[in-house]
Amino acid sequence: MERSAERAPLFLEEIRGGLNLTLATEEASRCLLCFDAPCSQACPAGTDPGRFIRKLRFRNVTGAIRTIKENNPFGWTCGAVCPTAKLCELACSRTALDRPIQIGNIQRFLMEHGWIMGFSPIKKPKTTGRGKVAVVGSGPAGLTCARELTLQGYEVTVFEKKDRPGGNLRYGIPPFRLSEEGVHREIEEIVSLGVIIKTNTSIEGENGLQKLRDEGFQAVFLSTGLWEPIRLGIDGSDLEGVLSATEFLGSLRNGQADRIEKKVKGHTVAVIGGGSVAMDTAMWAKKIGAKDTYVLYRRSYLEMPAEEKEKIQALNEGIHFLILTQPVKFEGQDTLTSVICRRTKLGDPDDSGRRRPEEIPGSEFELPIDVAIEALATRPATEVKKIASNLAWENGVISASEETGQTSLPWVYAGGDIVRGPALVVEAVADGKKAAEAIVQHLEGKGE
Ligand SMILES: Cc1cc2nc3c(=O)[nH]c(=O)nc-3n(C[C@H](O)[C@H](O)[C@H](O)COP(=O)(O)OP(=O)(O)OC[C@H]3O[C@@H](n4cnc5c(N)ncnc54)[C@H](O)[C@@H]3O)c2cc1C
Ligand code: SF4
Repeated sequence: MERSAERAPLFLEEIRGGLNLTLATEEASRCLLCFDAPCSQACPAGTDPGRFIRKLRFRNVTGAIRTIKENNPFGWTCGAVCPTAKLCELACSRTALDRPIQIGNIQRFLMEHGWIMGFSPIKKPKTTGRGKVAVVGSGPAGLTCARELTLQGYEVTVFEKKDRPGGNLRYGIPPFRLSEEGVHREIEEIVSLGVIIKTNTSIEGENGLQKLRDEGFQAVFLSTGLWEPIRLGIDGSDLEGVLSATEFLGSLRNGQADRIEKKVKGHTVAVIGGGSVAMDTAMWAKKIGAKDTYVLYRRSYLEMPAEEKEKIQALNEGIHFLILTQPVKFEGQDTLTSVICRRTKLGDPDDSGRRRPEEIPGSEFELPIDVAIEALATRPATEVKKIASNLAWENGVISASEETGQTSLPWVYAGGDIVRGPALVVEAVADGKKAAEAIVQHLEGKGE
């Protein structure tokens, strides 16, 4: 099915980030206008905060918006979900004086301001017909690559397995952190430039990529992400009420929200895992009415991979953390009624550098629960392993050049989570840009 432009309702009430034009300009006035701006160097996708903040500071609001959008088709999304404290704001020189410039909030504000003003900084390309490229997967990596190639005059078709585009922006990150409408708008902007997105279209089989080539696509960008959840695999995993975070988060967005909400509302939920996805899952379960929500994690609080602010937020929402706790069995007849856990203690560091959890014999206890959501990790789906079976792989992900995204098959490029493992939206955008540039070089006969 080809996706046509749907209209989104107005966004006025959604302005967040705590800024308006006056406050954003005041915040930009704190900028030191650094030479070789460290903030810009710290952005993986080259969004260039040094430049857009300078423009805003000198009241060139449309210029600031244009800088963001030219460099990053997901400028709003990144403003909302980038871990800026680890990237641009960490590098900001102003930190040495008092505190960093609120780069993420300014970026987000500028994007929303542009929408409200009806300002479209990126125009449809004048040149077309330079060649045909296929993109597999419509997450931020795929859609960025598609936009960049379209702007260069290529005809790009994005194949997406799910019924709506966006990947984790739509089916992973919860809407209380990333509004559906903002994502919708950024995707619409990409579609309006001429990118074709074919949803409900999965590329499959060992000859899936070759078939695309036979259909006339001169290059393929593979950005299929990591969609197969790694499961605990303990006894009772097949009971009704035991599910993965991928299933839970996805179901809330794919028309099954009622079924999932019914399961969770007024019930006790245990989320297993200690990463950002576990925090998002626990908070969403709480928001849709779970009576009690537990996070079960087998190492200590300090070893939880989630960011400190996410953990604090979850605790503030009233989520209970059971740390040094390893689930060993789910109990119930057909439906889950409890989880048996064993206490752990920390031993010597393992390969990840974190101290290994060791189960304490005889420390079992039973936690009555109605729903268990496993938020451990994800890996490439089986069908992706099949379509990419002719490509080189390394450590469970597709092997691709860091500079170009080119894989072991010269006309196939790859980027985003399927190459990096679990990563960030801004890194997916960076990979999409890099691969688009390399594909143009390749098709012009300038690359390998
Ligand atoms: C719950 C959650 C919270 C997150 N929070 C943050 C955050 O706060 N900040 C941040 O920066 N990052 C966050 N991330 C990570 C971020 O979302 C990912 O790094 C990013 O989405 C990866 O982009 P991608 O384009 O590589 O793949 P994805 O977004 O995974 O998109 C891949 C797309 O490919 C499609 N696909 C797969 N196989 C096929 C096939 N065979 N044929 C056609 N289509 C296919 C999938 O359906 C999907 O739409 C979060 C992730 C999750 C799950
Ligand atoms: S590093 Fe900070 S102070 Fe320097 S240009 Fe960037 S935002 Fe301004």
